[in-house]
Amino acid sequence: MGHLTPFLRLTSMLLSHDCKLTLITVIPTVSAAESSHISSFLSQQPEINHIEFYVPPAKHSDTISDGPFFIIFEAISLGKVAVDLGVHNYAISTTSLNFLSLMAYLPILTKSDAAQLANGADKIEIPGLTPLPLSSVPPPFFSADHGFTATLLSNPVESVVVLLSFGSRTAMSRDQIRELRDGLERSGIQFLWVLKTKKVDKDGNEEDLEEILGSSFLESTKDRGIVLKEWVNQQDVLGHSAIGGFVSHRGWNSVMEAARNGVPMLAWPQHGDQRTNAEVLEKAGVGIWDRTWGWGNQRLVKEGEIRRKISELMKDGNLKIIAKMVGEEARKTTGNGGNSKRTIIETIAPLKQNM
Ligand code: UDP
Ligand code: UDP
Repeated sequence: MGHLTPFLRLTSMLLSHDCKLTLITVIPTVSAAESSHISSFLSQQPEINHIEFYVPPAKHSDTISDGPFFIIFEAISLGKVAVDLGVHNYAISTTSLNFLSLMAYLPILTKSDAAQLANGADKIEIPGLTPLPLSSVPPPFFSADHGFTATLLSNPVESVVVLLSFGSRTAMSRDQIRELRDGLERSGIQFLWVLKTKKVDKDGNEEDLEEILGSSFLESTKDRGIVLKEWVNQQDVLGHSAIGGFVSHRGWNSVMEAARNGVPMLAWPQHGDQRTNAEVLEKAGVGIWDRTWGWGNQRLVKEGEIRRKISELMKDGNLKIIAKMVGEEARKTTGNGGNSKRTIIETIAPLKQNM
């Protein structure tokens, strides 16, 4: 009821602003009170299109033992209906900002935080909040397998940007660029797209973005997306904390740069070593790809395929956690005293002696 009441209040507010509404309610309802509340609300608002959604059985056994609220939460989260339909998806949070922050921060509580807690820390530090005593954290949050926790880990409530860039010498066909454009538009995800239309960029005779992508795309995504046709400093962009995923052809430099910055990857190999590279990052647990997309320009990859894969990239909590761990290891290796530097010093030492 604590979720239903504010939700129905919002529904009434939208109705009073001349919105056309479809209300999807969950079957079975949690309680008789909930069921009668919904019926009485709908009888007073006959203009609402009402659909009943039958909940499939829970996947996690912990969820089943924790009762109907968790079963419904997990089922709805697994559904991803909005993604399939390509419509925007907003969630109403009926809790305090502090608890919402704790839920949003869960995916970032990494192995190192866990180690810190194991070493006797009794508080969790969440940026912007006073430290939260461990005793105030709900016990299911300590179990990554619990349905509620697993869903939070895979659906972080952050303002996250996907970077798309296909290296210095790969240009996609115009048809493929249009499919990618449509996939991005319908995904609702924030993006930075570095667009290359020719293999070799030279000054002069440059088409502008509007000619290539159309003005309606640029207009409809102007608040959440940027397309650039010039060279950007990819390493710096990947180092920005807002970047939550990287779609690229998987040239090896791009793989290394993303890995070092702990950014999960979606591989879209085009030619050369890139399919082999994609196998490597998938095995390492830092990236995903779809083998059926083939080599560059082998077939037209459709917008729905692209949208679903980008959405998977941005929502996969495990990818995020592993990418972050890999990033920490990579920085250690390339930093002072790390293996990478030491190996180079050991390699050049005998060469110096021979001089
Ligand atoms: N409520 C009610 N009558 C009852 C029990 C609860 O009207 O006998 C309402 C209460 O007014 C509130 C909601 O149910 O709007 C409970 O929400 P809350 O967030 O306080 O707690 P939850 O049920 O989510 O634990
Ligand atoms: N790069 C960049 N800005 C761009 C495009 C590419 O900085 O706009 C850099 C990227 O960071 C990487 C290199 O160019 O270091 C591309 O190398 P990669 O091996 O990923 O792909 P290739 O260009 O060889 O296909």
